[in-house]
Amino acid sequence: MTIAALSQIADPAACPRLVLKVGSALLVERGGTLRRDWLKALAGEIAEARVRGQQVVVVSSGAIALGAARLGLTAGGRANLADAQAAAAVGQIELAGAWAELLGQQGLVAAQLLLTLDDLEDRRRYLNASSTLARLLDQGAVPVVNENDSVATAEIRFGDNDRLAARAAQAAGADAVVLLSDVDGLFDRDPKDPAAELVREVGGIDESVRAMAGASSGSGMGSGGMVSKLQAAEIAGRAGIALAIVNGTHDRPLATAIAVDRGTVFLPQRRDGGRKAWLGGRIAPAGVLTVDAGCADALTGGSSLLAAGLVAVDGEFARGDLVTIHSSKGDRLAQGLVEYTSAECRAIAGRKAAEQSALLGYSPRAAVVHRDHMVLL
Ligand code: GLU
Repeated sequence: MTIAALSQIADPAACPRLVLKVGSALLVERGGTLRRDWLKALAGEIAEARVRGQQVVVVSSGAIALGAARLGLTAGGRANLADAQAAAAVGQIELAGAWAELLGQQGLVAAQLLLTLDDLEDRRRYLNASSTLARLLDQGAVPVVNENDSVATAEIRFGDNDRLAARAAQAAGADAVVLLSDVDGLFDRDPKDPAAELVREVGGIDESVRAMAGASSGSGMGSGGMVSKLQAAEIAGRAGIALAIVNGTHDRPLATAIAVDRGTVFLPQRRDGGRKAWLGGRIAPAGVLTVDAGCADALTGGSSLLAAGLVAVDGEFARGDLVTIHSSKGDRLAQGLVEYTSAECRAIAGRKAAEQSALLGYSPRAAVVHRDHMVLL
């Protein structure tokens, strides 16, 4: 069953497994103290979801904001990477402690998972995380996930927990993700504009939807904002997972959003299978392959990427690395695992199969990116 409306997110038949993402601005006061009463009410709402038969995974930010206050760091601990890493190390203890205590009061067992982007980009580690999540949920625990900010380096970070939530939802085999925000959802223009209207339902994410997200601003406390929420919706949507943005500033935010029917729900447009969903959700490509118009059409029709259609190769990568495939206009068409190194790709770009052996020094492979290892975006 696929989710077709906001209200179904609280329905265990339509949504047996739910990911709930809680941002820093909701969890932590500006001065750096935890909003305990609010969190206590949210733990109550999670317990209600469990009683009606839903399994819940929490993705919780707040470590950097909490730790920055403890360490007396400026800019909420986000002035530089070293500050953020130190703040996260301190704040994560308090954050995990609060979740364990408040879920415990509801009779629930909290479990902590700290993940880096690399943990989910690597297939084997992704599967490990996936089976840990499944085991925890089967045992009735509530996994509380955050990025392992203390060890993640600048180049390979999620940076925001929106995309982490979408990736965790894939790994957990969830049906929906709810991003608790400090606004009601996606607005059709800058929410400060009095004429701005809430967009209740988004089918496909196109340029007009992206333009709306660009106009919305964030709280300045987390790092998310609407743009990263849209990226999260795209990752989830390709895997058949619905994603909703609702206002988390109310007590019992999910129940409230459903009762007043206010929020934005992104309805999934397709359901890629496990491995393709993982591939389509990867967010750290090592390079870009640009293809001509004929090749772009062939890819859209389900073909593999052949060297003859390749017009440019950017980045340095090894065989098996993730690459993004662009049209000559720069549109992102697909991503997949490349069969050649970047040097080999450059050597055979634009060349027919018959010419490739001499250039490579061995018989060419069937494709530069095989369709079995490619996902259209
Ligand atoms: N993982 C970060 C934290 O716990 C926050 C990431 C975000 O801003 O979404 O503080």
